[in-house]
Amino acid sequence: MPIHEKALIRPENLREHEQLVVDGVDVSGHWSTFIQSRVVPDYNEAMEDEIAALPGGELIHRCWQCGSCTNACTVNAINPDFNPRFWIYLVRLGMEAELLRDKDIIWQCVSCNKCTTICPREVNPEGVMKALSHWLELKGHTPKSPSMIFDEVFADQVIETGKIEEGRTIQRFFKRTGQALTQDWLIEMVRGLLRHLPVGLMMRMGLGALIAPRTRGWSKSRAAIAEYVDEQRAIQHRALGLSDLIETARRDAAGTPHA
Ligand code: SF4
Ligand code: SF4
Repeated sequence: MPIHEKALIRPENLREHEQLVVDGVDVSGHWSTFIQSRVVPDYNEAMEDEIAALPGGELIHRCWQCGSCTNACTVNAINPDFNPRFWIYLVRLGMEAELLRDKDIIWQCVSCNKCTTICPREVNPEGVMKALSHWLELKGHTPKSPSMIFDEVFADQVIETGKIEEGRTIQRFFKRTGQALTQDWLIEMVRGLLRHLPVGLMMRMGLGALIAPRTRGWSKSRAAIAEYVDEQRAIQHRALGLSDLIETARRDAAGTPHA
């Protein structure tokens, strides 16, 4: 990984002398700038493996740091601090503390997939952004983001009923994120739908939101999917060392001595 990031130079590590003369040459202020050497003692050597264990992060090891993802990124065009290539670089080096400095913006990925389309190494950077958000939440660094809550509501509904009812999904998402159902943009959208969609379809959607119909004979599929989800969750927790934490908390709660 040959790219050295300017962002790795923290402002507090820059030093300059207000007044400095060396061999008769005035090098005061900016001319005397130097970077204080810095030691990073907190590498997380398992970090790449942890991200790779989460859905979307599997191919992070393929990145060769070309920067095409960041160059194409929709969010980077608005906020230059949103930098997928840089975060992949930090993960691969295990620089967890550096990554955590950006923990409050990583979730802002809008899943437009421009990065994924352009990536020459098929890294799936959009998936890596999802895996990173997920990792931040699982490790307790950030609260669950609205996009993650939406994914959960969506997946829960598919597993529960074998169907997607848009009205019900939105309703549940708003409830879990504490949002009012009557939002201006939503009212406007419903008005537009009422003008353009067939009445029969609108009635079916409304009914679907109320009664949540299920796919016929869905119970076996539901059980199989739920089992698979549990298995995957256990694998991910193990990869992130969370099963140990959970076990420790369980033992603490039960007053059982640690092994
Ligand atoms: S999917 Fe996310 S990271 Fe990729 S280009 Fe879109 S906003 Fe940027
Ligand atoms: S476009 Fe792909 S290979 Fe290039 S920096 Fe982004 S993830 Fe890495």
